[in-house]
Amino acid sequence: MTQMHTASLAELSAALNAKKFSAVELAQFYLSRTEKLDGDLNAFISTDMDKTLAMARAADERIARGEAGALTGIPVAYKDLFCVDGWRATCGSRMLENFVAPYDAHVVELLNAAGMVTLGKLNMDEFAMGSSNENSYFGAVKNPWDLSRVPGGSSGGTAAVVAARLAPVALGTDTGGSIRQPAAFCGLTGLKPTYGRVSRYGVVAYASSLDQASPMAKSAEDCALLLTAMTGFDARDSTSLQRAAEDFSASLNQPLKGLRIGLPREYFADGMDADVRLAIESALAELRALGATTVEVNLPNAALSLPAYYVIAPAEASSNLSRFDGVRYGYRAPEYKDLNDMYAKTRAQGFGEEVKRRILMGTYVLSHGYYDAFYLKAQKIRRLIANDFRAAFEHCDVIVSPTTPTVAFPLGDKTDDPVQMYLADIYTISSNLAGLPAMSIPCGLGQHNMPVGLQIIGPWFAESTMLNVAHQYQQTSDWHTRLPEMAR
Ligand code: GLN
Repeated sequence: MTQMHTASLAELSAALNAKKFSAVELAQFYLSRTEKLDGDLNAFISTDMDKTLAMARAADERIARGEAGALTGIPVAYKDLFCVDGWRATCGSRMLENFVAPYDAHVVELLNAAGMVTLGKLNMDEFAMGSSNENSYFGAVKNPWDLSRVPGGSSGGTAAVVAARLAPVALGTDTGGSIRQPAAFCGLTGLKPTYGRVSRYGVVAYASSLDQASPMAKSAEDCALLLTAMTGFDARDSTSLQRAAEDFSASLNQPLKGLRIGLPREYFADGMDADVRLAIESALAELRALGATTVEVNLPNAALSLPAYYVIAPAEASSNLSRFDGVRYGYRAPEYKDLNDMYAKTRAQGFGEEVKRRILMGTYVLSHGYYDAFYLKAQKIRRLIANDFRAAFEHCDVIVSPTTPTVAFPLGDKTDDPVQMYLADIYTISSNLAGLPAMSIPCGLGQHNMPVGLQIIGPWFAESTMLNVAHQYQQTSDWHTRLPEMAR
């Protein structure tokens, strides 16, 4: 009998089609696990049993008609910034606490059409700003591996539910690392696609030139299935790319012989903890044993990625978040004198500290007199960073690095020091600035028995290559099958 919580998506699909269990039973299984375990994790913001079971029944009917696809009847959960028709989309904010989405995001349309079953909406850092999921109006999310530690952010709920096996797969977004960093902290596989691969329509914007919806799963194989279903042109997102459909599951079995792995000198210099280094070194040895070769590459502007990001992302956020004004969406202050007072009180009460900090930074760097000195300069650096990658990829097929400099840190550890918190994304941010695809896979356990993530960055549109590298590694290692105690 297939174990529901450890089975791959392909195994779940086979079991559904063989009628070993129904989509309704599978959904009920996950809902009851959530009932039992989410009290400790705080990963879900919304669940709705009736809606979930109705979708599961529809999936069962489709299976009975013999019209099932690879994902029909498979449960999925969404970070709470995806619009799912009829469900709240809070973005982890008081501002949108009671906002119910009136339509589906493009990715949600695609996954609904594939027959996936929505389990619920997931906790996150407010408006996706954070690296620990401690910035949520709905409270911090806990790491299933150690409830005193953070799951990473901003897709912390996404990571916690997959790690605790409260969902077989879940969606998040990655603007500066928010899929890869929580995947690393929770022992999961997460992939941020090339910018423009996945439509942003219906995904509440944080920094539009960086945001990408992304799958988080137990394995590269599962990520490939999801990504295949999520990608595609959408005219409603002006940055959506027109490309031929790709089946990311089709090329997972290529031997790694001849693969050239670039190791950025700047990333391996210093700054990463010894336990992280150890795990990365042994993963590299494994990849070499599989036939890959490694070569040192340079990313000379790597040190500028964090400052450039913390100009560009807040600038875009300050503009995107101006729509939350108490008139059109969500929260409105109950008492005010006049229109200006209503705006001020609404935004003062509706947004949390970190969101306000970003809006202030963003407004500052965009204002007359500072625009050239900060925003324009950051955009130039952004181009230099992309050029560095372009040059590096002349010498290698993929770049490998740690995903994060440390394993998951204790709750409260960095909440008083935003800059320390920003450093958690030191290795992930540059691929967003360059628009590159990048993923994290588990490659060991470090201090305190916490997972370590290996980052694989590819050239634009090289998702297939990256997924193949990850899958080959996962054929000879078992880090991705390790379960936190609470999930066994
Ligand atoms: N931690 C980064 C930030 O706070 C990245 C967040 C993200 O990718 N959404 O902006």
